[in-house]
Amino acid sequence: MSLQEQIKSTIRDINDYPKAGIVFKDITPVLATPKLVKAIASELRAQFENEKIDAIAATEARGFIFGSILALELGCAFIPIRKKGKLPYATRSQEYQLEYGTASVEIHTDAVKPGARVLIHDDLLATGGTAGAAADLIKSFDGVVAGFSFIINLSFLPGEENLMQRYGVKPHYLV
Ligand code: 5GP
Repeated sequence: MSLQEQIKSTIRDINDYPKAGIVFKDITPVLATPKLVKAIASELRAQFENEKIDAIAATEARGFIFGSILALELGCAFIPIRKKGKLPYATRSQEYQLEYGTASVEIHTDAVKPGARVLIHDDLLATGGTAGAAADLIKSFDGVVAGFSFIINLSFLPGEENLMQRYGVKPHYLV
């Protein structure tokens, strides 16, 4: 079985979570399969090891898992992007649109050096709102968005197109 098939068959669909009508892609069965985690780490490393990347910025909470693994694989820094009020040092926030209303994410003000090439990682790309907010934070410190990395892309939503249009980089995803 290909890596893609293994990931697809291991992800668990949860109906009506977090609310009625939503089918949530649950990656915890992937995390419970060490061989698969290792294969994903190798695949992500192969994808990005020849690119110049200074840091991985990942969004809370599921983005932290493969985001940290990827930072370790590439030997680069890890930058946590968190929900409002969770980071202890001075922060900058970025609001983004949800289906109804807005949300915001924060980054430490010393996390991104001007010119740093930052790869943004999250477990899943839906509309691109979360990854876009992360990218806006990186750019607000004159960092460079080196790319976007996801495990899953929900291809029936316009996230890929939105990120390409706004940041001029094609997002990478495994399934
Ligand atoms: P977006 O901002 O692209 O619309 O939504 C992506 C964000 O929501 C990511 O942070 C992701 O973790 C979370 N998310 C939305 N739907 C799902 C889902 O079905 N499964 C998982 N694992 N995360 C989801």
